Amino acid sequence: MQQTSSEKVEFPKGDTWSIHKFGGTCVGSSERIRNVAHVIINDDSERKLVVVSAMSKVTNMMYDLVCKAQSRDDSYIAALDAVLERHKLTALDLLEGDDLASFLLQLHDDINNLKAMLRAIYIAGHATESFTDFVVGHGELWSAQMLASLVRKVSGMDCNWMDTREVLIVNPSGSNQVDPDYLESEKRLEKWFLQNPSKTVIATGFIASTPQNIPTTLKSDGSDFSAAIMGALFRARQVTIWTDVDGVCSADPRKVSEAVVLKTLSYQEAWEMSYFGANVLHPRTIIPVMQYDIPIIIRNIFNLSAPGTMICQPSVNEFEDGQRLESYVKGFATIDNLALVNVEGTGMVGVPGTASAIFGAVKDVGANVIMISQASSEHSICFAVPEKEVKAVAEVLQSRFRQALDAERLSQVAVISNCSILAAVGQKMASTPGVSATLFNALAKANINVRAIAQGCSEYNITVVVKQEDCVKALRAVHSRFYFSKTTIAVGIVGSGLIGGTLLDQLRDQAAVLKEQFNIDLRVMGITGSRRMLLSDTGIDLSRWRDLQKVEGEVADLEKFVHNVHGNHFIPNTVLVDCTADSGVVSRYYEWLRRGIHVITPNKKANSGPLEQYLKLRALQRQSYTHYFYEATVGAGLPIISTLQGLLETGDKILRIEGIFSGTLSYIFNNFIGTRAFSEVVAEAKEAGFTEPDPRDDFSGTDVARKVISANFL
Ligand code: ADP
Ligand code: ASP
Ligand code: MG
Repeated sequence: MQQTSSEKVEFPKGDTWSIHKFGGTCVGSSERIRNVAHVIINDDSERKLVVVSAMSKVTNMMYDLVCKAQSRDDSYIAALDAVLERHKLTALDLLEGDDLASFLLQLHDDINNLKAMLRAIYIAGHATESFTDFVVGHGELWSAQMLASLVRKVSGMDCNWMDTREVLIVNPSGSNQVDPDYLESEKRLEKWFLQNPSKTVIATGFIASTPQNIPTTLKSDGSDFSAAIMGALFRARQVTIWTDVDGVCSADPRKVSEAVVLKTLSYQEAWEMSYFGANVLHPRTIIPVMQYDIPIIIRNIFNLSAPGTMICQPSVNEFEDGQRLESYVKGFATIDNLALVNVEGTGMVGVPGTASAIFGAVKDVGANVIMISQASSEHSICFAVPEKEVKAVAEVLQSRFRQALDAERLSQVAVISNCSILAAVGQKMASTPGVSATLFNALAKANINVRAIAQGCSEYNITVVVKQEDCVKALRAVHSRFYFSKTTIAVGIVGSGLIGGTLLDQLRDQAAVLKEQFNIDLRVMGITGSRRMLLSDTGIDLSRWRDLQKVEGEVADLEKFVHNVHGNHFIPNTVLVDCTADSGVVSRYYEWLRRGIHVITPNKKANSGPLEQYLKLRALQRQSYTHYFYEATVGAGLPIISTLQGLLETGDKILRIEGIFSGTLSYIFNNFIGTRAFSEVVAEAKEAGFTEPDPRDDFSGTDVARKVISANFL
């Protein structure tokens, strides 16, 4: 950045200024623009500069006009009319009187000029970059004017709009970037304020001029950058970027529904997150404000109660209260549509200049290298470039290294298409052992093949390249590993009759307490009866499970059911609860435990089948570090087994156990007193939930026998 002028400036720089930026999503309709005006009016800062984007999608519509015109597609005329119509309707809704009239006059004037310009582009079949920039920047001109008029109308305060092409001067700086000229911009701002002294200014985002006063833009998503440059020029107190999410999330909320809003991020972390695809903020936004330690706050215009994410210099004790590994990784981001280029060969080993020759060639075709990884044997270098640039890159490398390839000093220049980058970002990852191990472990568990790895020396990020089709799965897997509580449990309920149904209702009532007080997050991912089952990817709403099972349920299929409950690689633990009285289900336990699934069963057939089967099951369970709980097989869930177990473990000997071990028999003994038919009393016991599904199991003593056997195998 250039040094700012030491000469006295007239515009009152300093922390009386608060900068706001409203993205396209915030000004997408007249109702939303009204909302924005209220936020501006309610900010009680002494001075406010508001940077505003074009209404959502308008910039793309404008680019599309230019594309159409230069490919001689005359539908650009109708498309321009649509742009006019959208702004006209918005203005009619927001403004009135002279303000409305003068805006509409300006709008029509602009549209006529654009029509003439697009016509020229149509005839020439070509648009220069500055023509294009001139056309596309109109969205910002219109939204800024409408907003300024509205703020004046609603609040009566003095509010000017600023065409930033008059004040913001930037130089092109290769690969589609620009470099602000702070000195010149400051001079022009000073002049602007002399002519328009105001404490509330609505400025256009995205657009600027070259030092030769030719209109240009700050390139896509440039309004964030505009706001940051203004923040630096004004030495503002803070820059608030308003958008449609509660802040920077630990991952793109569209891809990871579990993503959490981050309270704070350091400048470096924000830069890394946005560089690697978190488009909530443009990476260039960080640079201007970082110089002056100006915080950026990302906030949601649609949820004013959310505090947002603060991007600033990290405080020294930020992590003092939690040294969990999880807190070292702040977030994850991904970039799609990449290709990996792999240059390989023994001839590269120890030969100085190979890397320079490779990247020199890549630069010559103007490709953007997103990450690089070199094998430490120097045997290969691989790097990622955008898919659309890879053809040119491969061609230039093939031709530059023709000789080396022919002489087999290089074995190949290989291209792997359809790749994505997944980056884990966090300043505190530096020098913390275990972060990469955890990351790779999560990827391995989700069965994701990693094609390339890079870690910056700063250790602010670890980057892996995966196949594009695996990317969302990889993102969810690593995110859940770092962000889910370790006690998130995927639960599958087999049998949704009396026992299963009661358990589900208990889980429903208890879920919040378990989560809040015990940090246990139970998610029922599947419920299956003998005929119908209900599956979910994220957790069934237990307040409606009965209805959902009827309406959304499908034909029961135990294999598919288990696959769904356990197939979610993002949840570290799976539990299947067998609430049936079916020995067929019991025969599956072995396989479940073998797959690392914990089993809980109130099914008495579980432990009372063939002894050999039981012993095999317990041996496997010990080996596989899985849990096998069956407390509820005895005493209707009273802690009998665990009590006996505790006694035995601490050296007591059990001499005798006495009692009535059948709830059904007990009920019958108490109620069959000769006044009613036996069958009636049995029906009553069944109704009350005492009996086995087939009460004969109770009368024959089989059920008691099973309990005794279960309790015996402690
Ligand atoms: P605006 O028009 O306000 O500039 P953008 O569409 O440019 O809005 O940016 C906001 C969007 O960024 C969000 O709606 C969200 O879908 C997306 N996004 C991607 N990654 C993240 C992330 N890590 N945190 C928050 N939002 C993200
Ligand atoms: N309107 C511009 C774009 O869509 C700038 C911005 O919104 O940040 O790229
Ligand atoms: Mg944006």
